[in-house]
Amino acid sequence: MRIFKFGGASVKDAAGVRNVYDVLQKTGFDDVLLVVSAMGKTTNALEVVIKDYFDKSAALQSSVQEVRKYHNAILLDLFDDDKHAVFAAVNQLFAELEFFLAQNKSPNYNFVYDQVVSMGELISTTILAHYMNYRGVKTHWIDVRQFVKTDNTYRDANVDWELTQKNISKNVKKKVLNITQGFLGSDENNFTTTLGREGSDYTAAIFAYCLGAESVTIWKDVPGVMNADPRYFENARLLNQISYREAIELAFYGATVIHPKTLQPLQRKEIPLYVKSFLNPELPGTAVSKGADLEPHLPCFIVKKEQLLISLSSIDFSFIMEENISEIFGLLHQYKMKVHLIQNSAISFSVCVDDKFGNFPQLKTTLSKKFKVSYNENVSLYTIRHFDEKAAKMVEKDKAVLLKQVSRETMQIVTKDPENIL
Ligand code: ADP
Ligand code: ASP
Ligand code: MG
Repeated sequence: MRIFKFGGASVKDAAGVRNVYDVLQKTGFDDVLLVVSAMGKTTNALEVVIKDYFDKSAALQSSVQEVRKYHNAILLDLFDDDKHAVFAAVNQLFAELEFFLAQNKSPNYNFVYDQVVSMGELISTTILAHYMNYRGVKTHWIDVRQFVKTDNTYRDANVDWELTQKNISKNVKKKVLNITQGFLGSDENNFTTTLGREGSDYTAAIFAYCLGAESVTIWKDVPGVMNADPRYFENARLLNQISYREAIELAFYGATVIHPKTLQPLQRKEIPLYVKSFLNPELPGTAVSKGADLEPHLPCFIVKKEQLLISLSSIDFSFIMEENISEIFGLLHQYKMKVHLIQNSAISFSVCVDDKFGNFPQLKTTLSKKFKVSYNENVSLYTIRHFDEKAAKMVEKDKAVLLKQVSRETMQIVTKDPENIL
């Protein structure tokens, strides 16, 4: 079986949905499992719904309406007859969402988040499945929550591999076109969980691993994995082949084209990963597979924006030692800060982190009891794998460098974003 993952960008409008059909015509679809994300920016739109819900905002109705209108426009474009069963199916999902918002009593933000945000993938796969059937392609829609079992860490759930493996090997039908949702799972009480933002690539890898799939293809709006994000770098070049190791490193440092959790399950079973353009499906894209250093070493650039650089120094000039460091890391973990770079000297310690959950104010209060805390918000972290002098110069040009770290393969530079330079 082959696993195909179509992300939000590939199904952002009716043309995108039609294109999925066209891609399948070219690739064949007899023994394929499609993992599909929410359409376009639906997950962000549902995050607004959640915010309005918790703020008890009068805008709640209209933010739900926005999501409904967006999908409705796609449906009207795709289906000639507005009596088609898909309209009722999608309405039913919105009714479930509204019922949940009206009835929920749980004050747990992360729990509510997962129950609401999951609607994006349920709606997109419902539309896709109906559209394929409408075009004469028989599909088998599956609710991923009956397959991918997780703990109850809402918004960042951990997969229970044993249960998931059991469910998938017993119940996924072979030799048909399966369609399922990326990003979602369910806990032991069957409440919906999610695997972390952008987690649909990971879902594809979970199915591939449990099915011992032939390959995974993630269909993107770029030609494949490039040596830089083409949104930020003009002359980005396609990498034709890379090793799992290189791909893991790139994803780890923040090349968002592949979700970092995707590679490990694939590597363990040596399942090849193809990253291909949904606009040019006949082009080979990038192949990620076993083998050391498949690519001649081109410098690869990764940028992470909106990072936070925290620098701690001891109040009394004492050393920052193992004990303090483990305490600092304990706190970073507790406040869900993702650490991307560490640098320390005798009496100071700096970390560049992603404060995705906005917990820095609390962390700062706690840290200030023991350390002098200084920080820069909104910094950018540039990573250059296989750097050379020219590449380093290019990144440093016109920027205020706050911190730099060099290892054999990798150079990392923290800079103030240009608008913040005084
Ligand atoms: P999806 O639709 O599957 O969610 P994403 O938007 O998450 O797709 O990923 C595709 C995007 O990743 C591209 O549009 C591109 O801007 C970005 N990207 C970041 N780093 C790279 C890279 N090294 N190569 C290609 N694309 C990259
Ligand atoms: N829809 C989810 C998100 O936007 C998952 C994904 O697209 O991978 O984060
Ligand atoms: Mg995405």
